[in-house]
Amino acid sequence: MSGGPTIADALLRSEARCGDARGYVGPEGTRTYAELASGARRAAQALIERGVRPGERVVLAAENGLDFLEWTFAVAWCGAVLVPLNWRLAPREVAGLFALCEPRAVVRQGAFDELVRAALADHGDAADSICVLDANERATVEAGAPHRSDENDLAHLYCTSGTTGEPKGVELSHRNVCQHALCAICELELTDRDVWGHVAPMFHLADAWATIAITFAGGVHTALPRFEPRAALELFERRRVTVTNLVPTMLALMVADESIGARDLSAFRLVLSGGASIAPETVRRVEAAFRCEYVQTYGMTETSPYLTLSRLGPIERALPEDERFRYRARTGRPFLGIELEVVDADGNQVPRDDATVGEIRVRGATVTRGYWRRPDLTEQVLRGGWLYTGDLARIEPRGFVEIVDRAKDMVVTGGENVYTTEVENALFEHHAVIEAAVYGEPDPVWGEIVCAAVVLRDGEGSDAEALERHCRARLAAYKCPRRFRILDGLPRTGSGKIAKRLLREGRDGGALPS
Ligand code: ATP
Ligand code: MG
Repeated sequence: MSGGPTIADALLRSEARCGDARGYVGPEGTRTYAELASGARRAAQALIERGVRPGERVVLAAENGLDFLEWTFAVAWCGAVLVPLNWRLAPREVAGLFALCEPRAVVRQGAFDELVRAALADHGDAADSICVLDANERATVEAGAPHRSDENDLAHLYCTSGTTGEPKGVELSHRNVCQHALCAICELELTDRDVWGHVAPMFHLADAWATIAITFAGGVHTALPRFEPRAALELFERRRVTVTNLVPTMLALMVADESIGARDLSAFRLVLSGGASIAPETVRRVEAAFRCEYVQTYGMTETSPYLTLSRLGPIERALPEDERFRYRARTGRPFLGIELEVVDADGNQVPRDDATVGEIRVRGATVTRGYWRRPDLTEQVLRGGWLYTGDLARIEPRGFVEIVDRAKDMVVTGGENVYTTEVENALFEHHAVIEAAVYGEPDPVWGEIVCAAVVLRDGEGSDAEALERHCRARLAAYKCPRRFRILDGLPRTGSGKIAKRLLREGRDGGALPS
C-alpha cells in the first residue's frame, strides 16, 4: 500500500473542513458537503449490499447533476472502478462497452432504463451477472470508512471521444486523477469561493476532472442536465458560475445566441475551452461576451486530461495586448508535472522556432498506464516511457505550444501538407460562419482535396462562392477548400466535438444532439 490522496479523500476533506457549506446547487435542491458525503456513503452501502467488491467495474448512466456527483464518490468509496456511460451511444455500442469492461453493476437514471435494458438484451447470458440499480437508490444506513485504495489502484475507466475511431477505455488510477485535480487547483487557483458549472457532459473528462478538483477545493458544483446554449447561459447567470470548461462548439453556439448580450455573467473568473481547436476569432467573441480571463486547455482522456494551459504568467502579462492575445489564443504551456516534447519522426526535439511542426509526446504522473484490455493499442501509443499523442504542434522559445492538427486530420494535397485548423481559422473570420470543419476527401489526381463543411448564421445570404473568395484572400491557393458543404449542423461525438471522420463518409449532422 502506498500513500497519496485518493478520490474519497476529496470528499472527506471538504466534509471535515466545510461540512455545512454548500457543495451542490441545482434543480434537485441544495446539498451541503456533509449531505453530499452522507448521500455518497448511502449510495456506497447500496453497492456493497449488492455485492460490489473493490476493483469491480460500475457503469454509471446519468445526466449532469447530483446523481453523477454522489455516485462518482460512492464507487470510489467501495474501491470499485467507475465507468461513466456516454448515453448518446446506440444499444449495440453500450452492449459492446459491457462486454469490454464486464461490469458488476449498472447504475442508471430512469431516462436510460430502455437503453440499458436493450444493451443487456444484446449482451446475452453474461447480463445475468450484472445487477442494475436505480440512480435514486440509497441504503438506509451509511457505509463505514472508505476502502483504503492504493494510489495506483484503478479508479476510472473513461472512454475517449471516438473522434478518430471506436472509443477506447482509458485506465486512470487514483494517483492519475488526484494528481490532476491538485495540480489544476494550483494552476487555476480554484478555491472554496468558486462555483463550477457542469455544462459539458460529465461522462467525459473535459468536465469530469472538476468533479474531483472542485470537491478537493470545497467549491460549489452546479449542473445543466444536458447542454443547450441558452439554458447554459441561464445557469451561469442564475447560479453565479465562476468557472467552467466547454468545447469550442459549445462556446461558438453560446456567443451566437442572441440572449447573451443581456446576461449578467459578471461572476465569471475563468472560461476554459478545450477538447478541440478554437479559432482566434471565436476567442475574441468569447472574451467580448464573458469579459473574464479566457484559458485555452489542451488535453486528452489518456492524460486525466490537461497537458497544456494558456494561462499567462506575470511575464506574459507585461507584454503588449496583441502579444498577450496571441499567447491566450495559443494552446498553452505544459501543465504542472507534465514533461512535454515536440519531436520529429526520429524522436528528436524540433527547434523552438515557432515554425517547425512535430508530434507531441508527454510523460508524468497524470498519464494513463494504458487502454483497458487492449495491449495492442497501448503499445502503439506508450513507447519508451512516453505517450505519443498523435497531435502535431509547433513550439516557441518560451515553451508555449500551438496545436496545428491531429496527424490523422492533416490533408496532403498534391504533396503539400494542409493543416485543417489553419483553414478553419480563416473561415471563422467570415462574419456569417458559426461552425466550420475542414477535412480531406480522396482524389485521383491530387491524392486528397481540401473540403469544408460550414454552418452559417441565418439570413446572412452567404454562399459557397463568397466563402471561396474569402479564403482566397487569406490563404495560399492549395490550402483553399475545393468543395464547400453548407449544412444545418455538423456531426458530433458525445462530448460535443466535430466528428470529421463522419464528414469524410459524407454524413452531416443536425443541431447539437440532446
Ligand atoms: P479518439 O481518441 O477516440 O479518437 P479524441 O481523441 O477526440 O477521440 P479525447 O481524449 O476526448 O478523445 O480528445 C483528445 C484530443 O482532442 C487530443 O488528442 C487533441 O487531438 C484534441 N484536442 C484537445 N484539446 C485541444 C485543443 N485545445 N486544440 C486542439 N486539439 C485539441
Ligand atoms: Mg484520442
